[in-house]
Amino acid sequence: MTDRYVVIGNPIAHSKSPHIHALFAAATGQDMSYAALLAPLDGFAAAVRDFIAAGGCGANVTVPFKEEAFRLATRLSERARAAGAVNTLSFSGGEIFGDNTDGAGLVRDLKVNLGVAVAGKRVLLLGAGGAAHGVILPLLAERPATLTIANRTADKALALARSFAGCAGCGLEALAGREFDLVINATSVGLSGGESPRLTFSYAPGALAYDMVYGKDTDFLRQAAAAGARTADGLGMLVEQAAEAFLVWRGTRPDTTRVLAELRSA
Ligand code: NAP
Repeated sequence: MTDRYVVIGNPIAHSKSPHIHALFAAATGQDMSYAALLAPLDGFAAAVRDFIAAGGCGANVTVPFKEEAFRLATRLSERARAAGAVNTLSFSGGEIFGDNTDGAGLVRDLKVNLGVAVAGKRVLLLGAGGAAHGVILPLLAERPATLTIANRTADKALALARSFAGCAGCGLEALAGREFDLVINATSVGLSGGESPRLTFSYAPGALAYDMVYGKDTDFLRQAAAAGARTADGLGMLVEQAAEAFLVWRGTRPDTTRVLAELRSA
């Protein structure tokens, strides 16, 4: 019988995950289906339980349910526990296993697709929401020279930094005069096409500015390009976190090069 997977979110119609996983399944010859599932805002746990009862094998979880998925899981990976959020669920023998592949996806996009090492770099992470939480442990594992977390609401950045050894937190205004080699925007500003706050740090020669938002020419990336930085959006992270979830479920890592190229050309 074909193994069934879904991505659960609200909204969900825009999700590229069904297309990405269909390409992965075809390329690796896996007998599986993958669909989008809209859950009511107050009905995430019920939607998961119904899907398990119908024989579902696993699910990706997106906005706004990642924290709820974390609480629903009966067992967690170390990276999900560190993130406090789950984007990948596996169902087996009555167990709900929760994992988080966002950070691994980001690091792989940086290192493999963009050829940018994190090791030894002065890294700035903008934002202190769910996406920022998910990438801190995998970034620290790459041994950056420094990892600074800066957020509009400074207290959130300070609290987040305190929960991980090896990074510091601050408000956006405290970045004035500082220089970074790698700047990752994990805020949601670009999603709505809004203006990014004027950022007062500088980019080192050869620095990369990375926006987790994808498919948009964001104000953050425009500011970075004007400051002479190389720029990248989060499409590669999206494809790589999906490949990591596929690996968790199917035990095989699909090749992402063609999938990423296809999505870029579309
Ligand atoms: P979230 O939990 O809602 O956090 C939003 C963050 O953005 C907070 O730190 C918030 O600061 C900041 N922010 C919002 N508006 C701002 C503004 N006008 N000026 C400055 N800061 C502002 O969202 P999330 O789940 O972390 O997601 C963040 C982004 O990452 C989303 O755009 C999402 O699409 C993207 N993402 C992409 C991938 C991928 O695979 N490419 C994966 C995960 C997430 P305050 O704390 O001050 O409110």
